[in-house]
Amino acid sequence: MKRAFVYLPTNFFAVQVIERLRNTKKTLFSFEILPPLKGKSIQSIYDGIDPLLEFDPAFVNVTYHREEFIYKKREKGYLEKIAIKKRPGTVGICAAIKNKYNIEAVPHLICGGFTREETENALIDLNFLGIDNVLALRGDPIKTEPHFIPENGGNKYAVDLVRQIVDLNQGKYIDENIENATPTNFSIGVAGYPEKHFESPNMQADIRRLKEKIDAGAHYVVTQLFFDNKKFFAFVKACRDAGIDVPIIPGIKPIESLRHITFLPKFFNIDLPSELTDQLEQCTSNEETREVGTKWAIQQSKELVEFGVPCIHYYTMGKSKTVRRIAQAVFKK
Ligand code: FAD
Repeated sequence: MKRAFVYLPTNFFAVQVIERLRNTKKTLFSFEILPPLKGKSIQSIYDGIDPLLEFDPAFVNVTYHREEFIYKKREKGYLEKIAIKKRPGTVGICAAIKNKYNIEAVPHLICGGFTREETENALIDLNFLGIDNVLALRGDPIKTEPHFIPENGGNKYAVDLVRQIVDLNQGKYIDENIENATPTNFSIGVAGYPEKHFESPNMQADIRRLKEKIDAGAHYVVTQLFFDNKKFFAFVKACRDAGIDVPIIPGIKPIESLRHITFLPKFFNIDLPSELTDQLEQCTSNEETREVGTKWAIQQSKELVEFGVPCIHYYTMGKSKTVRRIAQAVFKK
C-alpha cells in the first residue's frame, strides 16, 4: 500500500508566545533557563525542564551570554587577551526544546557583540529552525567595559534591534537589492524594569524608552525580577498610563541561598522589601533561607494570579527544584 506523505512546515504546530498571551483566560506558567557551562551536556537542560512539564509551560526562554575576555600567560611573561564564551548554545538549545517537547522556545537576542549583519543571519537561522519567538535585549556591558559599547555596525539599543526584527518580519533585509524576500514571523518580547533600569535617570524616562520599544513593534514585556508586588502593580499602572497596552509578564525569582540576599540586589539593581529581609535575617543556613524565599515567591505568585497577570515567568537559573515547589502551590490543577 502506498503511503501519502503530507508536507508540514516546521512551524505548523507553533503557537507564538504573543498568541498564547492574547488568548489565555488564566495565568500561564513559563520559565527561563541558562545554557550549560561549556563542556557540559544538553542532558542538564532536559533534567531542568522535565520536572516542570506537568505545569504546561507556555514557553521556555533561553538566555544569551556574551564573550568574556581573559588574559593567558604566555612565554616570556606575555599576556594574551582571549575571548571566551562560557555558555554558548542558545539557538541549539531552543531548537532541541522545540524538537523534544514541542514547547515554544524563546531565545534571547542581544545587541552587544553583534553587527546588524550578524543579527540578521542569526534571525535567519532561527527562522529556518522554525523558532518564531525572540526576546530582544541590549545586553549588559562586558566586565572590561565601563559602560555598554555597541559593536561597530551593530544595534545600540534594544529598540534598534526591535526595528531590525520588524523589518525582517516585513521582508526587509539589510541588502535592499534582495527581491521578493520571504518575511519572517517573529513574536517579539522586550525587557521592562519595575524598579527602573539602572542607567535610566528616572522611572518616567525609562517607561518612555519602553514605550518606544512597543511603538517600534514589540509585542509584550517581560520584567526584571522583583520581590515587592506593589512595585510591579505601580509599574503596570504607569505603563498603562503611558499608553503601553501590550501584555506585561512579571518575572519571579525565589531566594534560595544566603548568598542571594546580597547578590541579587547588587547584580539586578533591585530592592528586597523589609518584611522579607526581616525574615531572611533570622536564617542561619541555605535550607532555612530557601524555605523563606520559596514561601515568599508562592505568596507573590498567588497575588499576581489574583491581579490577573497573563503569565508568570520564573527565573530558574539552572535549578528547577524550587520553581517546581512554587508551581505546585500556584499552578497545580
Ligand atoms: P534598552 O531597552 O536598550 O535600555 C537600556 C538603557 O538605555 C535603559 O536605561 C534605557 O532607559 C536607555 N535607553 C533605551 N533607549 C534609549 C535611547 N534611544 N536613548 C537613550 N537611552 C535609551 N542580558 C544578557 O546579556 N543576556 C540575556 O539573556 C539577558 N536576558 C534578560 C532577560 C530579561 C527579562 C531582562 C529584564 C534582562 C535581561 N538581560 C540579559 C539584561 C539586559 O540585557 C540588561 O538589563 C541591559 O542593561 C538592558 O537591556 P534592555 O534590553 O532593557 O536595554
